[in-house]
Amino acid sequence: MNILILGSGGREHTFAWKIAQSPLCQNLFVAPGNSGTAKIATNVNIGVTDFEAIKTLVLNENIDMVVVGPEDPLVKGVHDFFLNDASVKHVSVIGPQQKAAELEGSKEFAKEFMFRHNIPTAAYQSFTKDSVEKAYAFLETLNPPYVLKADGLAAGKGVVILNDLDEAKAELKSMLVDAKFGAASTKVVIEEFLDGIELSCFVLTDGKNYKILPTAKDYKRIGEGDTGLNTGGMGAVSPVPFATDEFLNKIEERIVKPTIKGFKKDHLPYVGFVFIGLIKVGNDPKVIEYNVRMGDPETEVVLPRLKNDFVEILQAMANQTLDKINIEIDERAATTIMLVSGGYPEAYEKGKEISGVENITDSIPFHAGAIIENGKIVTSGGRVMAITSYGNTYKEAIKKSYQSIEKLHFDKMNYRKDIGFDL
Ligand code: ATP
Repeated sequence: MNILILGSGGREHTFAWKIAQSPLCQNLFVAPGNSGTAKIATNVNIGVTDFEAIKTLVLNENIDMVVVGPEDPLVKGVHDFFLNDASVKHVSVIGPQQKAAELEGSKEFAKEFMFRHNIPTAAYQSFTKDSVEKAYAFLETLNPPYVLKADGLAAGKGVVILNDLDEAKAELKSMLVDAKFGAASTKVVIEEFLDGIELSCFVLTDGKNYKILPTAKDYKRIGEGDTGLNTGGMGAVSPVPFATDEFLNKIEERIVKPTIKGFKKDHLPYVGFVFIGLIKVGNDPKVIEYNVRMGDPETEVVLPRLKNDFVEILQAMANQTLDKINIEIDERAATTIMLVSGGYPEAYEKGKEISGVENITDSIPFHAGAIIENGKIVTSGGRVMAITSYGNTYKEAIKKSYQSIEKLHFDKMNYRKDIGFDL
């Protein structure tokens, strides 16, 4: 079959790497792709939300399946677009329909879903500009730290956690009244603060059946010791050493099963990946958030541990036969370290030549913000490349990734030196 992947990050390079290994895939396209996908697929320079251009590509290249990487096209309804157009209705789209993508598109929607289905999560209330006084009063009933969340998508910046009540009120006002995050903060969710260690759980579903992929832990902050600004993710480890079988069982029984049942009950059409952001409070898992796609850089450690033919799994998701699939996981650990442009997540320069990629033999370099220009690999984004390694232990894998990084160079290259050190 012919497959199109939408996206251009390390996640999409990892999808392409795994799909290209399948004898079931004839022609593989990535839109828009990067320097990594260029080597194993055909990159097509189309934006991920340009649905008309995507449709034209799908028709011209006889594409049978579209695998959606990022959330934006899902929240904007790419799956529905395909279903509603007779010429591309036959194409399988991996990613939930718009109604279900609201789980990531609206935090209030996600909280209501969790409460409706008794899924453990933080207590909350949501407010608009008209209820700002009530919001202040609600804040006064809570203990610090105060967790404020813009309801809509805000490029990972919409969550603010503050210790001081007055600062929290001022932040709330700037979100609701001064539209700090534009339309995304017309509504704000105020949540009880949960104290614990975070991890992510990834679930595949065809809407009826589900399969759980290995857990992963990512590192969000730019600086060592989890300090500094938030990023898209600086590294990841899989499996998560503190996620014991007993804890994983709690996740499945209390969270995964009611989530999948909830999709059915609420008529949320869901064929795709469910990313459940969790926090371990004491010995119990609670949900921080749902994302309606795989994580990046978690994909770079989760998919390399999947032994199955990925295309067979994707087909089973599309055909609602996921129950026939037996997921096989590589016992080895996988880790990834993200190389970023100097200055990221604030302003940074692009167009820096990346050298040494061909010298990496012990790790897999998954390209992210990197493109080919005049025959050379150059940086094109903040997160540039994720260096994934296997190991009998996660410590061995991390060591390999750091050794591989020594062979790579670009001007102002930066990365965290402590991925996995807290585990
Ligand atoms: P991202 O896009 O970065 O995944 P997001 O903007 O969708 O995040 P959340 O995942 O809901 O927002 O929150 C971001 C981070 O804030 C979480 O990873 C967690 O560290 C922290 N956080 C969110 N809610 C809570 C809470 N109730 N208690 C403690 N920490 C929280």
